[in-house]
Amino acid sequence: MAERTNEPTIEAREEGWRLATRLVRGGTRRSELGEVSEAIFLTAGFRYDEAEEAAARFKGESDGYTYSRLGNPTLAMLERRLALLEGAEACRVVATGMAAVTAAILCQVKAGDRVVAARALFGSCRYVIDELLPRFGVTTVLVDGPDLEGWKAALAPGARCVFLESPANPTLELVDIKAVCEIAHQAGARVIVDNVFATPLAQRPLELGADIVVYSATKYIDGQGRCLGGAILGDAKYVNDVLLPFLRHTGPALSPFNAWVLLKGLETFKLRVDAHCRAAAKVADWLAGDKRVLKVLYPHRADHPQAALAQRQMRLGGGVVSFDVPGGSQGAFRVMNALRVIDISNNLGDTKSLVTHPTTTTHQRLPAAERQALGIGDGLLRLSVGLEDVEDLIEDLDRALRA
Ligand SMILES: *Cc1c(COP(=O)(O)O)cnc(C)c1O
Repeated sequence: MAERTNEPTIEAREEGWRLATRLVRGGTRRSELGEVSEAIFLTAGFRYDEAEEAAARFKGESDGYTYSRLGNPTLAMLERRLALLEGAEACRVVATGMAAVTAAILCQVKAGDRVVAARALFGSCRYVIDELLPRFGVTTVLVDGPDLEGWKAALAPGARCVFLESPANPTLELVDIKAVCEIAHQAGARVIVDNVFATPLAQRPLELGADIVVYSATKYIDGQGRCLGGAILGDAKYVNDVLLPFLRHTGPALSPFNAWVLLKGLETFKLRVDAHCRAAAKVADWLAGDKRVLKVLYPHRADHPQAALAQRQMRLGGGVVSFDVPGGSQGAFRVMNALRVIDISNNLGDTKSLVTHPTTTTHQRLPAAERQALGIGDGLLRLSVGLEDVEDLIEDLDRALRA
């Protein structure tokens, strides 16, 4: 399994494969036993035939594994498969999406640096930007994602890096990734895109100019609500020289078992994500045609506030639909409590359809005024459309809205 025993031809062959083949077979490295499904190397350490070999591996003079915090064969298979999916030079996987976000930023900043971020972010990402970074002397500036003049002004004094999410959770607001990358690069900043909502199937941040892409693999990569995971992708220099030492010594390592679950998740990734997106588009259209619904937000609908950008930047509309119901939090709770198929849960990207009320869950930490500024009203519901029959979901929503 050590890299030095692989025939170099495997990686070259993988580069020529089309997407579906990469998802099923990319990164697979068989042991001498010839297992078909990738092996789970559930081991903390690795043994050496001789003391000299241990010494050589620690000096970096010999390839091969030493300790699973530093590297593990099951994780390496997942990293290779994800890099092939994204079209990235290198990838590292970690225990959660938040570990990926935190490491991607922290590994490259120091006291005195500036970080510029979009205002509309997943709640915990806002915590990292608003509270964690300033504690270590990093200045952070928030910008309204769609406001390119705002990005220009915030980046004029220069910045170490930019962090953004598009579509953003839960408003599905978009950032023009290409335009922001151009502004950021002129300012000497590296751009990190949290691509969880779009998935690599719908949106290719590296092709749009981004430097680094992060994922919560918990969402569509596992896709079946089983385990947590995260990934960071970028050029080999950033991943190997900047990120890797940070990960190895701070230790947000992914369990090999979870890495294996995620490898299996990737094998059905394209089938699932295509189906999620088709179903979400149908549910969004049905909701938009219902008088009891005040507003529907879905990137590939013509009434999305940034519809032209969504068509240009995203190949699919994604699996999440957000919508506003009358009656504020109470109205939203009434609808949620009347659902019989869709579960109340703040996860997303599961085969099971899940609905959450951002005001009282994922975004409850933000002051009410900040939520209003982000467009997160008290009646807003975020629906992650699953893989059930879409007619059953529509019947469920219809029944709930009657409540
Ligand atoms: C869920 C999520 C995260 C965090 O991922 P975890 O795996 O839960 O740590 C980060 N960003 C976005 C956009 C998310 O949806």
